Amino acid sequence: MSISSSENSNRLKIAIQKSGRLSEKSLALLKECGIQITTSPNALRAEASNFPLEILFLRDDDIPEYVQDGVADVGIIGENVMLEKGKKLELIDKLGFAKCRLSLAVPRGTTYDDVSFFDGKRIATSYPKILGEYFKEKNVNAEIHMISGSVEIAPSIGLSEGVCDIVSSGSTLLSNGLKEVETVLKSEAVLVANPDFNGEKRKNFEKLLFRMQSVRRSNKNKYILLNAPKSKLDAIIAVLPGLKSPTIMPLANEDWVSVHTVINEDDFWEKIDALQEAGAEGILVIPIEKMIV
Ligand code: ATP
Ligand code: ZN
Repeated sequence: MSISSSENSNRLKIAIQKSGRLSEKSLALLKECGIQITTSPNALRAEASNFPLEILFLRDDDIPEYVQDGVADVGIIGENVMLEKGKKLELIDKLGFAKCRLSLAVPRGTTYDDVSFFDGKRIATSYPKILGEYFKEKNVNAEIHMISGSVEIAPSIGLSEGVCDIVSSGSTLLSNGLKEVETVLKSEAVLVANPDFNGEKRKNFEKLLFRMQSVRRSNKNKYILLNAPKSKLDAIIAVLPGLKSPTIMPLANEDWVSVHTVINEDDFWEKIDALQEAGAEGILVIPIEKMIV
């Protein structure tokens, strides 16, 4: 089936990382939004069969420029890359995966008190812009050396006294004899857009964004069922904000009811503790497949 040129120009283009730490989750997110794509492993682009969407597979470092230039309309990248590249992009949403931090580290045996340690020192990093801004804010005058890969070996080969690099568990730093001393930036995957695209394409984007946000909400929220003695119902409901208000259902034992609602994972365990203290029993927690509000 051929696609007319107007359909073609209405088709949204999203850039995602071709192969790396963002790739799998970016594709999974599109899939959870109901987007069907068949990709061959080496393809540079793919088309969705059931949504006006084209997917471009690129190196993450190139995505900000492609989106700024309008080659892609939107893209998924790490916040760290977005800030480092300093392009004119609209930050649409944080996506909750690829969480990591950009940290300063020094050789393990170093005596370190505070960030003024870095005054007059050489620091190796792939993030000279973010680090430069950080040092400026902290009034530190350091010599930043830009290295594009294997930053963590710089101190051991005498290139620098410290490094500023992406950390998640810290095991790479540890295995290179380094210790983390400052967090420069906390990062996660973000959805960015070219600020200037509109019309039909924008509408398609809004539709996709709505789906993404529903997926995000459902991943973050849990459906909870519990049994409550009627005498303690008010105290239990007070713990549960719910979407609007919880559903209350009668049980065979007339002194008890069943309460159903949705709770947010951010303060999940605090809520569970508070519910138990308030008299809730038989608490069941169920993942949510989709959440449309
Ligand atoms: P490319 O070949 O596309 O340039 P890359 O090697 O630059 O890939 P990756 O290592 O795949 O990039 O990391 C992509 C993004 O994932 C990073 O910019 C960062 O936001 C995030 N990230 C990096 N390291 C980690 C980590 N250890 N844990 C979680 N997220 C990470
Ligand atoms: Zn990269």
